[in-house]
Amino acid sequence: MKGKLIILSGPSGVGKSTIRTELIKQLPNLWYSISATTRPKRDNEQNGIDYYFLTKEEFVKQIENNNFLEYEEVYKDTYYGTLKQTVFDKLNNNINVILEIDVNGALNIKKNLKEAILIFIEPPSFENLKTRLINRDTESEEKLKERLEKASYELSKKHHYDYIVTNDDLTTTISKVKEIIANEINN
Ligand code: 5GP
Repeated sequence: MKGKLIILSGPSGVGKSTIRTELIKQLPNLWYSISATTRPKRDNEQNGIDYYFLTKEEFVKQIENNNFLEYEEVYKDTYYGTLKQTVFDKLNNNINVILEIDVNGALNIKKNLKEAILIFIEPPSFENLKTRLINRDTESEEKLKERLEKASYELSKKHHYDYIVTNDDLTTTISKVKEIIANEINN
């Protein structure tokens, strides 16, 4: 395997996808692995761009066919997974790959692939995260509560990561993460 595997995690609402989108634009030779999910598509999302939106049956079929590098029930009855084939194809072709996945998925991969580089994005404070999630207005009250509970759990696992970056200011965060990845790629 020649390319580097970079894993970006952090609580829902912390700004991961904005950061990742910028990294892809700014760093050559970095490929984003689009995950599969059973979560319903949001209005601003596109199938095959943001996620592969699958039914539960389709997702289970992918599990049975051993097509996932990892998958997790991130939220109750909502599955997310990284498709194996393309990730390894890219890495074998010397292309660096970035995954944006939850803490459990990330730590599972790290168990088997010690060379994976783990980056955790944390909010400046829990209150700040809560405000961001409320303002994003993509979740029902119940789902918001679930996301905040999951956020506490994810924050409690951040010490397992190789790098922790606090997202105080988006532009600064992007350049910090960019520098981390650029250094790792050139290592
Ligand atoms: P959202 O529903 O807000 O798009 O994503 C919820 C969470 O699912 C994110 O915080 C993200 O880290 C996680 N996630 C997205 N894709 C994957 C994946 O392929 N595997 C795992 N384990 N988690 C994922």
